[in-house]
Amino acid sequence: MKRVLKWVGLALLVVVLAFAGIVFAAFHGLSPIEDGRWSLAGLQTVKDGIVSCYLVDLGEREVALVDACNDKSAQAILVGLAKRGLGPEAVKAILLTHGDSDHIAGALAFPKAQVMALAADVPLAEGRETRFLKGLLPPKDTGVRVGRALADGEVVELSGVTFRVYAVPGHTKGSAAFLARGVLFMGDSAEATTEGALAPAKRLTSDDPALNRASLAKLAQRLAPSAAEVMAIAPAHSGVLLKGLAPLTDFARVH
Ligand SMILES: [Zn+2]
Repeated sequence: MKRVLKWVGLALLVVVLAFAGIVFAAFHGLSPIEDGRWSLAGLQTVKDGIVSCYLVDLGEREVALVDACNDKSAQAILVGLAKRGLGPEAVKAILLTHGDSDHIAGALAFPKAQVMALAADVPLAEGRETRFLKGLLPPKDTGVRVGRALADGEVVELSGVTFRVYAVPGHTKGSAAFLARGVLFMGDSAEATTEGALAPAKRLTSDDPALNRASLAKLAQRLAPSAAEVMAIAPAHSGVLLKGLAPLTDFARVH
């Protein structure tokens, strides 16, 4: 009996250490997320633990969310809205960069907002597909419903604010980047390092790391003609890069 307990203990320790290793590998070297309004007009970061989502102003009293963070009750988002005297009804739309659970859960707190995602990630967002431990764990309904499936190159117009949609497959098959209000929202497809450079998604967390890199290089090419429009790059698990399109262009040059 004692021996069995010893082995169980050891197995548990290995699992805990492996998990800690994955978390460390996923987040070390990244610039920290800073909660609050930006120096650029109409933008606000909501920090929800290790992930962020973004409020994009659509007008005086309306916002769109880029991603919905990790918390089903959306506490951090509600606090972010309340700081500006806004309630949950101010959220008109939620644009998901991809369907991973830590980016979508808060959508449940805004049932009136229209949820959008690239078509390829809709099954993941709704919980009809899983990404990790495929075949071992059955898919579980997330409760999130995508009301509008997006396509690459589409332009979404929300109260006069345009969101350009770019497919950047690799982290997930339906990963998207959105360009709105001069900000390129990257979800998990890119990170910002402590040195202020752009890095691809961490290998361990991605379906296809090589495709992720190729998608970033292609995005740099596609955005080159409108480089002057891009003032910032906003990843989901690290801080915002306020250096225009340059970090993406620099990444593309060496990859
Ligand atoms: Zn992800």
